[in-house]
Amino acid sequence: MKNQLTYFAIFAICSLVIGFVSSSIVVGVIAGGVATFVLLGYHWWRFTKWSKRPLSSSSVALGPFSSVAKRWSNSMWTSRERTRTLLTLNRRYRSITDHVPDAWVFLTTSLQIDTINPAAERLFGFTKDDSGKHFLELARHPSFSILLEGSDELDVVEVPSPVDENIRLEVRLVDVNEGKIVIARDVTDLNRFLSMRQDFIANVSHELRTPLTVLIGYIESLLTEDMSLETVKDIVARLDTPANRMKSLVDDLLTLTRLESSPEPEAESILPVDGGAMLQAVVKEAAPLATEKHEIVIEAEPELIVSGVPNEIHSAFMNLVSNAIRYSPSGGRIRLSWQWHPHGARFEISDQGIGMAKEHISRITERFYRIDLAGSRAKGGTGLGLAIVKHVLRRHRTRLEVDSEPGVGSSFAFTLPIQFDSERNIDD
Ligand code: ADP
Repeated sequence: MKNQLTYFAIFAICSLVIGFVSSSIVVGVIAGGVATFVLLGYHWWRFTKWSKRPLSSSSVALGPFSSVAKRWSNSMWTSRERTRTLLTLNRRYRSITDHVPDAWVFLTTSLQIDTINPAAERLFGFTKDDSGKHFLELARHPSFSILLEGSDELDVVEVPSPVDENIRLEVRLVDVNEGKIVIARDVTDLNRFLSMRQDFIANVSHELRTPLTVLIGYIESLLTEDMSLETVKDIVARLDTPANRMKSLVDDLLTLTRLESSPEPEAESILPVDGGAMLQAVVKEAAPLATEKHEIVIEAEPELIVSGVPNEIHSAFMNLVSNAIRYSPSGGRIRLSWQWHPHGARFEISDQGIGMAKEHISRITERFYRIDLAGSRAKGGTGLGLAIVKHVLRRHRTRLEVDSEPGVGSSFAFTLPIQFDSERNIDD
């Protein structure tokens, strides 16, 4: 309305003034028309200039074109905001798909690869160039076909990775509007953990069952048979061995669980440990274990004190000393040493026992790993001693060194720092 009034005013004023000056109404009307036309042209020129940069220049002084310009710029601002929001969402979505550890492969309805994330490149071995190829052409394991073409109930399969068959993938299929998403998770570590747990439970049950069976057998005969007091006493005395065996196993399991539950000892449990004095005590305690006679020699540096958790170091010493006794024949010499070392104090134990072949050395610290199962059990071994030693040493940021030769003997050693330094790392 304002624009129409302006145009009318220009037309009227020009017509009147020029008509009055020229004393001709026709000339006045023509002049008014020309002036109005020139103004319209000026506004059109400004509008075309504005339309080249509609978002950055102002839409004022565009005459009758300002309302069009305003609506135009409003809709452009709205679409610009929308584009910005979409770009932000797209960036967010990219950063999610780029950083999730799971592989995501987006497939079209005809099962062609549309988009993949970096984890899919790693776990499936796909590259960006594979876009457009049929998924089953690249992922050839039969389980993929079952998953993609099979029944609705089966939406998860476990397959080896096409890149490395030691990597196990749990693959899931998700239906979306535009196609399907194949999501794969690396479950290698989880599987390993589950099978370790199963083995562990099987081992513990087996270890407990043998002495339990013996105990039950004796108890049954005590309950059912008539026997003299002498025989009863004899049977009760025999209960001692399986009962103690079960106790050792439970004690070792509890120790191991406690050690495994935290990688670092509590600061207040770290105390000065006189290794030499502790070794003397351990040898005295271990002596009753010996069924055979051994020559035990201790060469310990006096006053060589380290910092550590005393009962854990005691347990490590005890396990190594009792193994040396257990796996050495009568008359065998066992040498213990506790000496200064550039990195602290070094403990070494060597025996002239049965020794072991090289292939066993890397495995003897595994829980329940025994080279001769029956031999170890007969000697009262639980199969957990060296696993306990390994964890004690790991908590003290050091590790066990083993050397052995079958029929010649074995030596075990470790170095403990004088000061417990939690910054030191150990590559075990
Ligand atoms: P165990 O209770 O059976 O002794 P450990 O964990 O202490 O369990 O040791 C694991 C295995 O390592 C033993 O069963 C044995 O076969 C072997 N071993 C350990 N110490 C010695 C040693 N000093 N000499 C020979 N073999 C050893």
